[in-house]
Formats: sequence, structure tokens, C-alpha cells
Amino acid sequence: MKHVIIGNGPAGLVAAETLRRLQPDAEIALIGDESEPPYSRMAIPYFLIGKIADSGTHLRKSHDHFAKERIHLIEGRVVKVDAKEKQVEFASGERLPYDRLLVATGSQPLLPKVAGMDLPNVHTCWTIEDARAIAAKAAPGARVLQIGAGFIGCIIMEALAARGVKLTVVEMGDRMVPRMMTAKAGNMIRRWVESKGVAVHVNAGVTAITQKAVR
Ligand SMILES: Cc1cc2nc3c(=O)[nH]c(=O)nc-3n(C[C@H](O)[C@H](O)[C@H](O)COP(=O)(O)OP(=O)(O)OC[C@H]3O[C@@H](n4cnc5c(N)ncnc54)[C@H](O)[C@@H]3O)c2cc1C
Repeated sequence: MKHVIIGNGPAGLVAAETLRRLQPDAEIALIGDESEPPYSRMAIPYFLIGKIADSGTHLRKSHDHFAKERIHLIEGRVVKVDAKEKQVEFASGERLPYDRLLVATGSQPLLPKVAGMDLPNVHTCWTIEDARAIAAKAAPGARVLQIGAGFIGCIIMEALAARGVKLTVVEMGDRMVPRMMTAKAGNMIRRWVESKGVAVHVNAGVTAITQKAVR
């Protein structure tokens, strides 16, 4: 049996290890399109704070883990699944056959459809590559504006505040963490965050991002 898993985040990785336990003789290929060993996005805030190096985000720490488990790690972006031929196709044009296919490709940040999202110094904070770019710029005193104060936004906010940046957070909802917190709880979080020196604007939908000329 040849198992192919697209996506080497926590879901894909645990699926691969579970399959190995259940089927000692199966062939297992685990595909990811980031140039990193399988890692946890959940560890990114600790990387941003500087508590861990990027290797600390790796889901499995021993260098020979995947060889020992006989899980074949493949770096590449799958662009097509040919279910009829039972093959996946990579951006390079190469194909890989499978008996069983698991798609565990995770999700992506939801980008507001506003002008200026592609300007320099505008980042998402989703991948370790994003986090490296942010860490390189978020020096003490740097002015940072964060769009979004949801659950993940608040975790990132805490990490940025710990880096000593001058932080402003804008949230289109009427409170912080609007999808998880009541008005009372959201406003308590807001007061606490403001007491730490973070400026918070709620009911504030961003309509455009512009770049100020630096003289
Ligand atoms: C900063 C941050 C903090 C977070 N903190 C928490 C937390 O505290 N608690 C919590 O529960 N969740 C947290 N999350 C969310 C959590 O990280 C995700 O829910 C989790 O990563 C989902 O795992 P996954 O394996 O499904 O997908 P992912 O981790 O996204 O992995 C999927 C992988 O598949 C790859 N891929 C996608 N498409 C293709 C393709 N076509 N070809 C090849 N590879 C492909 C992706 O590049 C990625 O590497 C956080 C997320 C972030 C960004």
C-alpha cells in the first residue's frame, strides 16, 4: 500500500506516524511545500519572542526521526490530483502515484481586500518564513500596526509587545477577540492590553494601506 499525504503540518505528520504504526510495511510519502522540516505554527509566537530558535518549532527534534519511521519527506508543491490515474502532480511537472491519498493542507490567512497589502513591510504572520521577516524588523521602538485582534492575533500581539515595539492594534469588530469573547470579556482584555502600553482601536475596518515617503 502506498500512502501519499499532501501537507506536512501537525495533521499530516500525525497521520503519517499513525499509518506507520498501523501498517508497518506500507510506503508513506509526506509532502510539504515549505523549505522547512515539519514544524508547528503554534510555536511561532515563542520564536518571535526569542524563547526558541526556529529549530524549536520543529515537530520532531531528532534528525533521523523520519528515516527511522520510514516516512519519505518530499519538498514540493502539489498542483494537481489526478484521481483517475491515482497520481499527484508537482509544480515541477513530476508525478507521484498513490493507492491512498490524504489532503492535509491546512489553511491560509484571510487577507482583507484592501489596497496596499502588497507593500513592503506588510506581512502576514502565518509561516515561520513570515516570522523570520517580522523578527528582523520588529526591533524595540519600531512602530507596528497589527490588523486583527482575534485569538491568533492576540497571541502574536503578545509576542510583538514582548519585543518592545510600539504597537497599535486595529479590529473591525466591536471588541477584542470578538468571535470568542463576550463584550464584557473582550473589554477586560482590551483594558489589560492598554495597560501594557498597546493602543487598541475597535470598530476600525482598514480600507487602505499607504506608504509614507521617508525623508
Ligand atoms: C502564529 C500562530 C499561532 C497559533 N497558535 C495556535 C494555538 O495556540 N492553538 C491552536 O490550537 N492553534 C494555533 N494556531 C493554528 C494552528 O497552527 C493550525 O490550526 C495548525 O497549524 C493546522 O495544522 P495542519 O496540519 O492542518 O495545517 P498546517 O500546519 O497549515 O500545515 C499544512 C502544510 O501543508 C502545506 N501545503 C499546503 N498546500 C500544499 C500543496 N498544494 N502542496 C504541498 N504542500 C502544501 C502548507 O504549506 C503547510 O506547510 C496558530 C497558528 C498561527 C499561525
